Amino acid sequence: MTTNLLDFDAKAMAEHFAQMGEKPFRARQVLRWIHHMGAQHFDDMTDLAKSLRAQLERSCALPLPTILSDHTANDGTRKWLTDVGQGNAVETVYIPETSRGTLCISSQAGCAVNCRFCSTGHQGFNRNLTTGEIISQLWWANHALGADPKGNRVITNVVMMGMGEPLLNYNALVPALNLMLDDNAYGLSRRRVTVSTSGVVPMMDRLRDDCPVALAVSLHAPTDDLRDELVPLNKKYPLRELMAACQRYLVKAPRDFVTFEYVMLRGVNDSVAQAHELVALVRDVPCKFNLIPFNPFPESGLKASSRDQVRAFGEVLINAGIVTTIRKTRGEDIDAACGQLAGQVLDRTRRNERAAEQVLQFTPRPASSNVISFEQMQAQIEQLAQSAQGKGGAS
Ligand code: SF4
Repeated sequence: MTTNLLDFDAKAMAEHFAQMGEKPFRARQVLRWIHHMGAQHFDDMTDLAKSLRAQLERSCALPLPTILSDHTANDGTRKWLTDVGQGNAVETVYIPETSRGTLCISSQAGCAVNCRFCSTGHQGFNRNLTTGEIISQLWWANHALGADPKGNRVITNVVMMGMGEPLLNYNALVPALNLMLDDNAYGLSRRRVTVSTSGVVPMMDRLRDDCPVALAVSLHAPTDDLRDELVPLNKKYPLRELMAACQRYLVKAPRDFVTFEYVMLRGVNDSVAQAHELVALVRDVPCKFNLIPFNPFPESGLKASSRDQVRAFGEVLINAGIVTTIRKTRGEDIDAACGQLAGQVLDRTRRNERAAEQVLQFTPRPASSNVISFEQMQAQIEQLAQSAQGKGGAS
């Protein structure tokens, strides 16, 4: 069996090379060849001895993603759909802007959190991605976009906001983050790597201690009653605990604020009164808000807020002194806009089932076979939290 070197950050690579009887600097060389130079074959690593290259060829692998589709939108947004086996696919989206290029990366195939407004959540949970599958999305995007290691960066920012809840795949996530930050790999600053969470409180504490990158929190509601409906994880970690975790995170965060994501849902969470409640909720958390226009999909039974309503809502936050942006919808013509990150492969397999669901109102949604229960999700979190305690984590 061959060892997948894409699964290793610098520490794991050094350990693997030590087991092979090789010096630590060889591990650094190989790491640099793979991630910094974008090498695809051991034979390309010309400053390694031929005997070592041959040994790596025999015992190790660099499995690159299998790309199912590659679409570029009219606004330059580019989306890749990657096969992760068993009929599942994940998406990676590149969003070019004047002064930066952002890559949105997936961490799981499907998602267990089952947020009401999210098309990924409607797929249910399929499996965690490996470290190699997470980091190879960045590897691939650099390759496909023609990045030159000696030239200007094409990808300047990474956001873990694709499919999945990154903090529920913590053990694979952190080595991937380490690689993003490593000067021998992608060399991004902590401020330019953002993990977005729906609020897995113990793992937020652990991330703060292990790898404090910028933090975004999917908030979406000012009260527990409403957030319980929109983000079911709130039943486990209600708003008071979430706000406290945000404050604790900021002690070590590379930025001095948390970004709150807030998807604007007509008649559900978008009233001016709710904006005032939100201001009161976050008063002790240095933060900025990103208001996200909702991309409706039939199964959600939800509608997008009007522009005027989004503006009126945003004004309340701005008048309270909170930096607030309204996210531009990008890549709509290729379904790459936020909330549309649902694998087409799985979509095809479930089309009939979905057509039958016809959820038209804001009512509890019928269970589907691959949506795990709230209890199962809780058990998963308990397991992660226990492993955090075992490693001396803060939670
Ligand atoms: S919004 Fe994020 S956490 Fe919620 S279901 Fe979608 S992918 Fe999962």
